[in-house]
Amino acid sequence: MAKVAINLSTGSIQQEEIIVGIDLGTTNSLVAYIHPEGRQPLAINDQGRGTIVPSVVHFPGGGDAPIVGTDAKQYLLTEPQNTIYSVKRLLGKSYHDLGQHAEELGYKVIDDNSEGLVKIRVGEKFYSPIELSAEILKELRLRAEHALKTPVNKAVITVPAYFNDSQRQATRDAGRLAGLEVLRIVNEPTAAALAYGIGLSPDEEKTVAVYDLGGGTFDVSILRIQQGIFEVLSTNGDTYLGGDDLDRAIYDHWASEYQLSTILFQNPSAQQELRLLAEQAKRQLSSQDTFEADFGGTTLPLSKAKFNELVQPLVARTITSCRQALADAKLTPQDLDAVLLVGGSTRVPLVYEAVSEFFQQPANNSLNPDEVVALGAAIQADILGGNRRDVLLLDVTPLTLGIETLGGLMDPIIPRNSKIPTKAGRQYTTSVDGQVNLKISVYQGERDLVKENRKLAEFDLRGIPAMPAGLPKVDVNFILNADGILKVEAIELRSNTRQAVEIKPQYGLTDDQVEQMLMDSLTHAREDVAARMVIEARTVAEQMLYQVERFVAKNGQHLTEEEISQTTAGVEQLKTALTTQDKDTILKAVDELEELTRPFAERVMNISISQAMAGKKIE
Ligand code: AMP
Repeated sequence: MAKVAINLSTGSIQQEEIIVGIDLGTTNSLVAYIHPEGRQPLAINDQGRGTIVPSVVHFPGGGDAPIVGTDAKQYLLTEPQNTIYSVKRLLGKSYHDLGQHAEELGYKVIDDNSEGLVKIRVGEKFYSPIELSAEILKELRLRAEHALKTPVNKAVITVPAYFNDSQRQATRDAGRLAGLEVLRIVNEPTAAALAYGIGLSPDEEKTVAVYDLGGGTFDVSILRIQQGIFEVLSTNGDTYLGGDDLDRAIYDHWASEYQLSTILFQNPSAQQELRLLAEQAKRQLSSQDTFEADFGGTTLPLSKAKFNELVQPLVARTITSCRQALADAKLTPQDLDAVLLVGGSTRVPLVYEAVSEFFQQPANNSLNPDEVVALGAAIQADILGGNRRDVLLLDVTPLTLGIETLGGLMDPIIPRNSKIPTKAGRQYTTSVDGQVNLKISVYQGERDLVKENRKLAEFDLRGIPAMPAGLPKVDVNFILNADGILKVEAIELRSNTRQAVEIKPQYGLTDDQVEQMLMDSLTHAREDVAARMVIEARTVAEQMLYQVERFVAKNGQHLTEEEISQTTAGVEQLKTALTTQDKDTILKAVDELEELTRPFAERVMNISISQAMAGKKIE
């Protein structure tokens, strides 16, 4: 039976509202839906271009009109600075979080030396990983709309089980920027289980392992499924291990065995050619026993036995992770009802054998490992769309609950559509030295700025011991019980000071009002995310100003007149930038002030280290 939906903004009636499932991957992304007739999940293959969309965004000539996917991928070598790949690794992360990995990327990640979220510079513009992920999602959305010939506004998006709140929120924001209402963020292993039909009946109880080896990342999760609830018991992996490393092992073998280092050193396009041949060899050896190719007159052979020998250490590392995950879940292989394989690299027979041997049962690889996560996301979308009456849908909270943070931003604690009862929390700190009170304002709604949401309550946590800003640790917990009553409690951990309130979030709200709040969040998605980005840029800038001014006041005697006057000019420029509402201008000024102060900041640090050392006495 076809469903009919009414578009609230236009009043028009739509036939069958489509909710798509999206696998937003590090290397590749896909979109899937439930075919209305067969009611089977299908990955969308628009115009015969295949189901896989490489997660690559290219800005031709460093301009601001990006292209996405296979067309973008070809610029990875020729225009690396304008071609962004692996952006999923940056989602919800600060430069600090990335560490050395920031330098390994072909494009420029801005080092603003702060805890703020990273930005990527392309040409004269700064992009957040959210904006770049949104470009990938937009491409998927367009493909779905084109293939299905209907508007697509709603989606379920998958994330790795180990993603934290900030990475999940970033994924949601990316969806919204791409014009999608993200009905739920689902763990990738949960989606894989659903695709294999596990967890679809309410009385089912199963424990499964999901082994996911993609192009650049590896993870394994142990899930327990009980009464329609998917609980992640443990997860393990290596975010820098994948099919690319298998290719690299072949590449290195050929390079040393056939003395190719001179030609490779002189010729970057030869490197690329050899890399492609290595991947081709790997793929062929998944179904055949030998491979041979010609590389500029040299014959490069590879037997399956040699390939297995080359990649054995990498496969062994993944098995070590599996052992750890199982131990963390306090289970043995016999406790597992199934082992599911996800990711293109699980097509390597040695991987299949090693995983099956370790878990003492044949791993399940009957579904296409590239598509399985997207297919599961489509099934989850179908469940949320109310099309599977047989599946238990627990009560959910219709609007997001959260608190106000710096700059009037909404920090979601319990996202909308969370099953209730539920409990979630986050840690906060003070922003001013010696602060003894913290105001907790509780809001409900989907907008990024609290002033657009509905205020539910406000209270002060008093009696925090006076400490420097950033030291107090305040846990804010939201406990939403099965009757929809929300209890918010705040605890300062060092002193154990606590305060709590109880609220009824749905009190006085009609269904129409809830609907209106959701509609508003969609209509205002672009301006909201833009406003949030400006606020985040301003916060980064204000922290930078505070640090630089404090630094100059403390270490002025070690600086030359010229350095002081240059810094003053940089500070002024940043203050002027702050008067605009343009995040790119602000971030550019932050970047420049950082570049300007870095050399002497390092010098002064060396001076103070050597003074400290000189002052040390050896007893
Ligand atoms: P994913 O990130 O899941 O799309 O995985 C892509 C990875 O799977 C890449 O490293 C591919 O080289 C690899 N891959 C795809 N097909 C095969 C195959 N037949 N044999 C081995 N690896 C493959």
